[in-house]
Amino acid sequence: MHGSHFNQACVELKARTVRTFKAAAHGLCKRLAIANALIADYMSKEHVIHYDKLTNLPNRLYFTQTLQSELDAAKASDVNSALILIDLLEFKSINDVYGLDVGDRVLIHVSARLEKLAPANGIVSRLSSDEFLLYLPQEYCELDLLEFVSLTFDDLSRPYQIDNWQIRIGLTCGIALAKEANYVTSELLANVDIAQQYAKQHSSQHFSLFLPAMKADKLRMQQVAESIQDGLDNNEFSLHYQAKVNKHAEVVGYEALIRWNNHALGELSPTEFIPIAEQSGKIRHISTWVIKQAFFDIPTLLAHSGEHIKVAINLSTIDLKAQTLLSTLELAMLEHGINGKNVEFEITETSFLENIERVNIVFDKLRALGCSVALDDFGTGYSSLSYLTKIHLNVLKLDKQFVDELIASKHGKVITESIVNMAHQLNMRVCAEGIETKEQAQQLIEIGCEELQGFYYSKPAPLSAILSSKK
Ligand code: C2E
Ligand code: MG
Ligand code: MG
Repeated sequence: MHGSHFNQACVELKARTVRTFKAAAHGLCKRLAIANALIADYMSKEHVIHYDKLTNLPNRLYFTQTLQSELDAAKASDVNSALILIDLLEFKSINDVYGLDVGDRVLIHVSARLEKLAPANGIVSRLSSDEFLLYLPQEYCELDLLEFVSLTFDDLSRPYQIDNWQIRIGLTCGIALAKEANYVTSELLANVDIAQQYAKQHSSQHFSLFLPAMKADKLRMQQVAESIQDGLDNNEFSLHYQAKVNKHAEVVGYEALIRWNNHALGELSPTEFIPIAEQSGKIRHISTWVIKQAFFDIPTLLAHSGEHIKVAINLSTIDLKAQTLLSTLELAMLEHGINGKNVEFEITETSFLENIERVNIVFDKLRALGCSVALDDFGTGYSSLSYLTKIHLNVLKLDKQFVDELIASKHGKVITESIVNMAHQLNMRVCAEGIETKEQAQQLIEIGCEELQGFYYSKPAPLSAILSSKK
């Protein structure tokens, strides 16, 4: 080959090689770009799968997957790590009152505060709409752990400034330790849930640490809740009646108090099963039964004690929310020929704080039927004198605490006297409950209580026992 030909061939070869390389490089770039796009797509899909869209926190799925490897590591190094569950209380009402957008922004603020509070190696997650989890991989002594939770609680309870609103949220926290759960994710999650529910039920406690005894309590609560329907079907419930008297010790009414003797669980106190029925959504069945049974008994009680008496029925807040309450009542009144003036409803104080306007609508309807409405257990924790002026009530039931304080403390009489006076100013009758001694009875009469109730006068008893007693 001539030198010139050779040179030309070389130039061509070079050009072809450059073209081939360029094409290859172009293809490679294209493939790299595709790969990058695929990775980004995969990552964003992974992100969507693993992270909560609103708060950008790891979601339940990702958290529980990660938790088991964290627990394995803690177990290997014998570290008693901890899990905290934070539940926002009544969060639905924030959405209802301020709208979903504000609700969402509160949740974003909560998650941001929580992330700030968490130690660097902690893991924060959004478990459900208003529940958050915080995993602490290091071991704390119990005091330090409770101190940390207390600080977390205080910080999350500070008001949230959203536009012009200062929004406050209630919360409860459960705490559970890894060792107690044998370093098993499902057990740790169950324990922390039990601890949180325990804190919620014991309203004085904002947070509680899981204890094995709580598991037994929860089991018992489940058994009780599951037995309620059977109890109703098998006629295991009954009503006792406790007399209310006037200052001359004459019977002016009776309070119906439910009793339950279950074939497996034995005698249960209403202080145990009523709250369980409320939490498990079974209270309405119980209240319907109570209303029907009491209305069945009222004519007999009137025939025995006089047409003037009132029979009081205890209702729960949940009953007040039920659409069917009034129709159940009207039907039972018609069926048994009951006059509303012979019926009183007792509702505990705690119920009112929620929504006074809505409660007043129900009370007005009950009063329109001729029935009266009493505020039960006045003085047990939630007392606010100002809301007494806003609620449409006929009777104030002074809790046993006031009755006990009358004799026990110097100021007891002054306080009770002022409450009674105020109730009278608001056109309410006053009934004192839990009277056990003659001295208490005399003081209460002196103060001006119209109705008196307690073991001093008579204990709750079945209808048959009331009928066999003298009038
Ligand atoms: P409550 O409505 O405040 O009823 C008064 C409670 O105090 C009753 O307890 C009664 O037996 C008790 N008691 C009455 N006098 C005295 C006394 O002199 N000394 C003492 N130590 N106690 C006295 P019980 O029957 O165990 O009921 C407890 C609570 O359970 C009731 O408190 C009420 O909140 C709830 N409850 C009872 N029956 C029903 C019901 O049919 N429906 C609903 N929703 N709740 C009910
Ligand atoms: Mg009552
Ligand atoms: Mg009471």
